[in-house]
Amino acid sequence: QTIFIPKEIDPSEPRVAASPETVKRLTGLGFDVIVEAAAGLGSRITDADFTTAGAKIGKTADAAKADVVLKVRRPTDAELKGYKSGAAVIAIMDPYGNDAAVAAMAKAGITAFSMEFMPRITRAQVMDVLSSQANLAGYQAVIDAAAEYDRALPMMMTAAGTVPAAKVFIMGVGVAGLQAIATARRLGAVVTATDVRPAAKEQVASLGAKFLAVEDEEFKAAETAGGYAKEMSKEYQAKQATLTAEHIAKQDIVITTALIPGRPAPKLVSAAMVASMKPGSVLVDLAVERGGNVEGAVPGKVVTTDNGVKIVGHLNVSGRVAASASLLYAKNLYAFLETMVDKGTKQLAINREDELVKATMLTDGGKVVHPAFANVVV
Ligand code: NAD
Repeated sequence: QTIFIPKEIDPSEPRVAASPETVKRLTGLGFDVIVEAAAGLGSRITDADFTTAGAKIGKTADAAKADVVLKVRRPTDAELKGYKSGAAVIAIMDPYGNDAAVAAMAKAGITAFSMEFMPRITRAQVMDVLSSQANLAGYQAVIDAAAEYDRALPMMMTAAGTVPAAKVFIMGVGVAGLQAIATARRLGAVVTATDVRPAAKEQVASLGAKFLAVEDEEFKAAETAGGYAKEMSKEYQAKQATLTAEHIAKQDIVITTALIPGRPAPKLVSAAMVASMKPGSVLVDLAVERGGNVEGAVPGKVVTTDNGVKIVGHLNVSGRVAASASLLYAKNLYAFLETMVDKGTKQLAINREDELVKATMLTDGGKVVHPAFANVVV
């Protein structure tokens, strides 16, 4: 059977869904692997690297031969036309709010898997694309903030005087936020952090940062069984805003990462809070693609406000460290695909009763099969 790895169509997507290591392993499983020419260049992987690992280099039209397509982004309509019916397509499908695209995948007859729906259970940790990519995004957010900030982050005691340490506040401490804390600490900043989940408190402390949050009854119940945050009440949001407003005014750098699955990102930093910050301060909004945590953040732009505060809204932040991001992403996909291969026959054998398959399968046999999209009309 054949696996195809295309060059991503979106020009802002430098990542690729395979690495030389995973190509080697996929051929080891018995697959023919075709990688589209130049697919890895944005991640510093050459065609020669892929051929050395055992892949053939192909063209866009080779998608038609594939039993499995490994991608970063959801296939476009043009890409769907190129796939054979019944092909398994594994990618970050970003299906929420994109019903028409989900319907199009069903209509194309592909078996589409949405990697971001992978359950967060021990067995699937190695397949967790949200974690692998958010971890790098959290790191890069601090690097981007440091690059925009025109002062030093660490305290420096020099013969010519002392430079104070920068104050960095991380809002939302899931995977990205925790890595942002660690990175800012490594650069010598004084770090504080907030979240609505009680479990975050201890994690923040263990990284040497100070935790700040409204710890009322609602906070104590804010974590869902899946480990995610709930959307908080208006009352909680108001209390949270009062607490954080005073704190934000004293910060040099604020990095926001707060998300709620399937919902718009919570607004955590108002325009008034931004205006309260000192000129030269920097905000990085990692949630900008999901509506943003910071009022005034513009997707894909670095905005400077009237009072000289920069709001960084880079898109695809893990893609800014593409060479690292692709290696981890490719490994996540390989680990998932491996569970769907019959080692004896060396054929794809999807077990539709497996919990990983059930959680991630969006479309199959011409139908939308994921319960979250049951009302999508094909
Ligand atoms: P996420 O990207 O969905 O959200 C980022 C953070 O924003 C979360 O910590 C969330 O609590 C926080 N947040 C949401 N609303 C907020 C608000 N109004 N104010 C402040 N913060 C807010 O989260 P994530 O990084 O995907 O992590 C979610 C959970 O999953 C965490 O508990 C994490 O430890 C857990 N996790 C488990 C595994 C595993 O067991 N395999 C792997 C990765 C993550």
